[in-house]
Amino acid sequence: MIDKSPIYSLTPFTMLDFPQKTACIIWFAGCNMRCAYCHNPDIVNGKGIKTENDILDFLKRRKNLLDGVVISGGEATCYKDLANFLSTIKEMGYAVKLDSNGTYPETIKHLFENKLIDFLALDYKASPCKFKTVTGTGRRLWNRFQETLDYLCANQHGKFEVRTTIHTDLLREDDINSMIVDLEEKKYTGTYYLQNYRHKDAGTLGKMLDQEQGLDMTHIQPSENFTIEYRNF
Ligand code: SF4
Repeated sequence: MIDKSPIYSLTPFTMLDFPQKTACIIWFAGCNMRCAYCHNPDIVNGKGIKTENDILDFLKRRKNLLDGVVISGGEATCYKDLANFLSTIKEMGYAVKLDSNGTYPETIKHLFENKLIDFLALDYKASPCKFKTVTGTGRRLWNRFQETLDYLCANQHGKFEVRTTIHTDLLREDDINSMIVDLEEKKYTGTYYLQNYRHKDAGTLGKMLDQEQGLDMTHIQPSENFTIEYRNF
């Protein structure tokens, strides 16, 4: 876990990243995954530049101007003092959304059960057979992700969304369908967002090229329990 100042940067304003809220985004440096399509290699490989006090001073000045704070990265749950930091932000009256790869189930349970986050966007990276290819990590993190997903589906209906980024060199229709089956078995009832990879010239962590082939949506199985929405297709 990260124990030094972990904050890489701050985006002062967004209307896109926290549903129905105006927010800022705090970007945490460091991540325990190495996703080939990751657009933030500088953040994943970078070090903290800002202190917690820098951020709290900013939030004091923006009180009554922003509704919420998005915690993103990198992977913020790697930071061992995240709960204390979020507690201070919540005391200031902000709503908090966390973006996470879900590999610290104890942290996510603690944050929900102590009302330190209001909403979670959970990355479902890949089916087990593709998990290493997509994330560069193995069975241990897959199991930890599954523990998080089990907990959320059993306890936090309506307070989280599941999303998968698709680059068709890494994930195909069958992989998506196996994740849909897993979500059905866990009785997920929210929206499952399938996000198309967008190529950027600046490059990705795994130096991915652009997709040559698009996803064939006609081969994606619908679910009776939840809605599937496509982003950026
Ligand atoms: S896309 Fe992967 S490597 Fe990049 S921040 Fe998210 S979990 Fe980490």
